[in-house]
Amino acid sequence: TIPLSQRVQRIKPSPTLAVTARAAAMRAAGRDVIGLGAGEPDFDTPEHIKRAAIEAIRAGMTKYTPVDGIPSLKQAVIAKFRRNNGLEYQPDQILVSCGGKQSFYNLAQALLDAGDEVIIPAPYWVSYPDMVLLADAKPVIVAAGQDQKFKITPAQLEAAITPKTCLFVLNSPSNPTGQAYSREELKGLAEVLLRHPQVVIASDDMYEHIVWEEGSFCNILNVCPELYDRTLVLNGVSKAYSMTGWRIGYAGGPKEVIQAMKKIQSQSTSNPTSISQAAAQAALEGDQSCIAEMLKAFKQRHDFVVERLNRIPGIDCLATDGTFYVFPNVEGMIAALDGVEDDVALAEYLIEQAGVALVPGSAFGAPGHVRISIATSMENLEKALERIAGVAA
Ligand code: PLP
Repeated sequence: TIPLSQRVQRIKPSPTLAVTARAAAMRAAGRDVIGLGAGEPDFDTPEHIKRAAIEAIRAGMTKYTPVDGIPSLKQAVIAKFRRNNGLEYQPDQILVSCGGKQSFYNLAQALLDAGDEVIIPAPYWVSYPDMVLLADAKPVIVAAGQDQKFKITPAQLEAAITPKTCLFVLNSPSNPTGQAYSREELKGLAEVLLRHPQVVIASDDMYEHIVWEEGSFCNILNVCPELYDRTLVLNGVSKAYSMTGWRIGYAGGPKEVIQAMKKIQSQSTSNPTSISQAAAQAALEGDQSCIAEMLKAFKQRHDFVVERLNRIPGIDCLATDGTFYVFPNVEGMIAALDGVEDDVALAEYLIEQAGVALVPGSAFGAPGHVRISIATSMENLEKALERIAGVAA
């Protein structure tokens, strides 16, 4: 056997990607499985975005670009931050990467050393703790239950901060809970952060556009501009424009951190795909009505799924503020099923017995829950909920 690094042994493969792969494999083997595991919109990338990519190929945009992105895309990102978020950046404060995932990876690599602590509220996006571990640092998980709408309080944040705290990760609206922090709640967290100037903040705004109440999105810099010099705003085109396969994310933040992240990227992937950059520019600069169309479908599905889930005995599901996930508590269902002792076993049971693939809450640091993706047709959702109800009956 070939000895592998301790680093790689510290982490696990992405559980959400694993569920999707398993459902696809079962389907390929002829099993009838409805996939509710997906972390991506079920819509096609809008036509005008595809066209921009095709034109880019024809125009010969098929070579290396600057590591941090082509200047015109960076200008589109700057304009986007100004238009949607009221944030001002210079070009050397912007880094375009191969997906939001690489943005966070670069940040962890650029910022963290062994022993550094990173505060991650749970439920969390599955990749944060593992990317922190890959940077030799220590994830400090702060749990927020359904009773607090899965959002941490200022007191919890204060209690988690130590002299070793380097980074605080904020993801609102949240994958997997769909809950978003209000202005007031962000203000409360910001007041704590103002007292601890050593803490850098990562605001992961990936689901910014997928919120039910128009104009309700807000990030921590909007309520506390004083944190500008130590906040990285991470975003991307994957979810807003149904462009998960194109792999374009971007970050805005303090110049020294962005330049350090760029250095990491220059020695790993170099530039994100040239063609995808052209597509991302078209997405950011073009007609935004594609977002509203997706949003309408997600909201309709959300209303149906939450109502239907809450009629199933043993399931308790909060309505969300946005995203395409719901995150019900399923402890009652687990208790009622013989031989099913936790959420991981329940997910296993549902895929085998009901042909419904979803992700156990443990993957997000929240046992007793499951994440259901509503990024699939109403028809699939109706069928899947019938099946889950059948198992619970
Ligand atoms: N941040 C959050 C909260 C996410 O849910 C995701 C994707 O699932 C990402 C970042 C990364 O997105 P991508 O790398 O596909 O752009």
